[in-house]
Parts: sequence; C-alpha cells; structure tokens
Amino acid sequence: MSEGALNGQVALITGASRGIGAAICDTFAQNGATVVGTATSASGADAISERLGKLGVTGTGMQLDVTDAVASQACVAAIGEQFGPVSLLVNNAGITRDNLFMRMKDDEWDDIIATNLSSVFRMCKLVIKPMVKARSGRIINISSVVGITGNAGQVNYAASKAGVLGLTKSLARELGSRSITINAVAPGFIESDMTDALPEAQKEKLKAEIALGRLGTPNDIAQTCLFLASDSAAYVTGQTISVNGGMVMT
Ligand code: NAP
Repeated sequence: MSEGALNGQVALITGASRGIGAAICDTFAQNGATVVGTATSASGADAISERLGKLGVTGTGMQLDVTDAVASQACVAAIGEQFGPVSLLVNNAGITRDNLFMRMKDDEWDDIIATNLSSVFRMCKLVIKPMVKARSGRIINISSVVGITGNAGQVNYAASKAGVLGLTKSLARELGSRSITINAVAPGFIESDMTDALPEAQKEKLKAEIALGRLGTPNDIAQTCLFLASDSAAYVTGQTISVNGGMVMT
C-alpha cells in the first residue's frame, strides 16, 4: 500500500476508543485520511483526539451512541461542517450480550440488534447521499466469523452479524452503479476487551482451532480495512473478507 493511500478521504469510524476500531482509526489517519473516531463518552472522545494528536495526524474524537438516531444525525452533520462529507465509513461499534437461547431475554436480543445491526442501516443512510452525488465512497462493515458459522450462546450476536452481511451485499448491489463499494470484514477471535472477558481455558481451546495458532490483533483487521478503503480495492464490492487466522475456511 502506498503511503498516503487515503489522502483526501474523510473517514468516520464508530467505536474507535479501543480495540479494533482504534486500530482502524489510527491506521487510516496514518495513511492520510482525515479521521473522526467515536466513543460513547465525552472522556473517550477526548482520549481519541489526544491519541490522534500524539500521532501527529489529522482528525478528532466525537461522542456517539450509535443506537441514538438523533445523535447519529448530529454527528454526521458536525463532520460535514468541520471536515466535509464522509467519504469512508467504517461501522465498527459492536457489543455482545451472550446467553443460551433458552435463557436469553428480550432486552439481550433488542440491545444487540439495535447496536450491531440497526445502527449500520442508520449510519449508511446518513452518509450515502453525498457519496451518490460524488459517485464515489467506501463503506466497510465489521461483521464476525460467527455471523457465518453461528455460535452456541450467541444467537443474538450471530444474527446481528449475519444481518450485517445481508445488508452489505444488498447495498453493494444497489450502489455499485454509483461506484460506491460496500464490503464486510469478518474477524475471527481478536485480542481486545471483548475477548479478554473469555476464560483462559476457553481461549486456549480456541487457539487450538486456529490454523495460525494465535488470536488475531486489531492491526490484522485494520490492514484489511485499509486495503478495502484504498484504490487497490476499487473492483471489490459486496464481499466478506474473513480475517480469522484459518479458524474457519470457506
Ligand atoms: P471492544 O474492544 O469491546 O470495543 C467496542 C467499541 O465499540 C468501543 O469503542 C465502544 O465504545 C464502542 N461501542 C460500544 N457500544 C457502542 C454504542 N452503543 N455506540 C457507539 N459505540 C459503541 O470491541 P472490539 O473487539 O474492538 O470489536 C469491534 C468490532 O469487531 C465489533 O463490531 C465486534 O462485534 C467485532 N468483532 C470483534 C471480534 C473480537 O474477537 N474482538 C471478533 C469478531 C468481530 P466505548 O469505549 O465508548 O464503550
């Protein structure tokens, strides 16, 4: 990837305070994009601004709860005013609320669908008009390996992540004629707060199922997103790129 591969792009990355989103945000900024990374708290947003400042790149943190439609609209409008229209959107914010299906409560289902799926629909809607007008734009949706395979104890999460894949493919078909690409990245098990919560024994068991014998890093995902955001991926749309160390091979 040439340096400055994302020069001139205005990138919005949701959930950029930590983990995978932070790595995508920093990588995009280091490759020339003006980035806006979001966090759910004001202090988290400030910490993103500080992190970007230390890297000496262009961008800022903003506070956003992606389940809040009004706040989402205000966030995209603020970016438009400060930096220009979003040309690169990464829907990364996501949560888990694991439980066995028999015990799963309505709110565990609803929270996951609202945060991991409905927000993707909404954010895409909010950025799409200027992209259509410009006849260019990139959207990258962070799904999950379990959106492809399913996973016991994650009916809600797997359904949300499979939903993201259906949305991605359909939108790619609708917007291809406008030269806008929409792709998904399906990470396997990646080192982050999300997987830190897993018991050590379960992590060891998981590693045994991964061909490369290790969990992935947030940077492994960021590099794939960088490719999808760059000119090198101009002819890639509607695809799901699995980045799982060979845990699942399709
Ligand atoms: P993480 O470390 O738990 O970070 C989650 C990020 O999402 C944080 O920045 C958090 O912001 C933000 N967030 C949570 N709820 C939000 C909301 N309602 N509105 C806006 N932002 C919200 O997670 P991660 O492991 O980096 O995962 C990032 C994405 O990759 C998720 O979509 C996840 O499902 C997916 N993924 C992860 C793995 C993995 O193994 N880690 C595997 C497959 C897919 P705050 O810091 O403000 O809370």
